[in-house]
Amino acid sequence: RTPTLDGPLSESANTRRESGRFRPRRPPPSRRSSSRLPEPAWSARPVLSDAQSADPELLDAFAAPIVDRRETARLVRELAAVRPLPGLRHVKRVRPCGDRGKPHPLEILVCLLSDVPDVEDRGAATLSSLLPCESFDASGLGQPFLAKVPASPPLTRPQYERASAHWPTSFHEDKQVTSALKGQLFTSAQKAKMQEYMAAAVRAAEDGRGRGMDAVGAVMVDPDADRIVATAHDLRHGSHPLHHAVMVCIDLVARGQGGGAYCYERHPACGFAGPGIKGEQRYICTGYDLYVTREPCVMCAMALLHSRIGRVFYGSASADGAFGTKYKIHTHKDLNHRFEVFKGVLQQVCSDLNPETTS
Ligand SMILES: [Zn+2]
Repeated sequence: RTPTLDGPLSESANTRRESGRFRPRRPPPSRRSSSRLPEPAWSARPVLSDAQSADPELLDAFAAPIVDRRETARLVRELAAVRPLPGLRHVKRVRPCGDRGKPHPLEILVCLLSDVPDVEDRGAATLSSLLPCESFDASGLGQPFLAKVPASPPLTRPQYERASAHWPTSFHEDKQVTSALKGQLFTSAQKAKMQEYMAAAVRAAEDGRGRGMDAVGAVMVDPDADRIVATAHDLRHGSHPLHHAVMVCIDLVARGQGGGAYCYERHPACGFAGPGIKGEQRYICTGYDLYVTREPCVMCAMALLHSRIGRVFYGSASADGAFGTKYKIHTHKDLNHRFEVFKGVLQQVCSDLNPETTS
């Protein structure tokens, strides 16, 4: 048998070469064709929760130079007793002095401003006004000064970098999130596949536009079988004002499973691929990926949530978008289904479809 690039011979050679290193979760699809393609000029970025993407909230605090380094261990121990910092375990008590021009090498966090409500003149605070003189030996400490510390532990590397610029902070990094934020989560082969799926959604959008509809397209993909299970375009001007491309796409998936509510006879560009693997029982979109050219609205986002979508990839943002622009429906703690959303796949092409409503 003639070995091919994707055949078993090259696979075993690849396994030997890669032994002991991380390998992709799934074998990268269509390696042969993608190897000839240039790296796509877009990147898929995760749409994270506000808690993961907001600037760190900062608390006012007092710090002081440690003028006698030999006192450091005692000062740390005694300050922890008289001025504990509950809820701030992520904040390091001692930091190196950032200013090389100063004689002291270390600085220590004395207390939060909220610990000393009686101090009125922040700029002129003294150690005796911040600490109980009778039970605390302040020798080794210099004149206190104001500092800022992050109120909560950073969840992402950008948050960690912003927080650490104020005061040293500990950080338990989720490497997956860091790599996603850099646009490096997906391999070239995976990106080529994603581009192929979004291009199918773009073609559906163009088909719809040719029939007088809004140019929005969507495809539902079964990533395990590597196939498109439903293709849809917007029908709000064709059949019903609520028939947005995503709603149509979900309905087509349901139709493929023996359900569905709409009628598509007049819209040949909308269709489903027929039932999946025989005997397969899945609840509507469980485990499926949706590719949609424009960020979905709240109604479509809720429909995706109720149909248990696996992941959503969209091209361009929309002013009323529910996956990052106006809301982040997929990150709501109170909702009973969570899923990942990525934006930016074929962003420019998707944006050009609806320049007036997308950004
Ligand atoms: Zn919608």
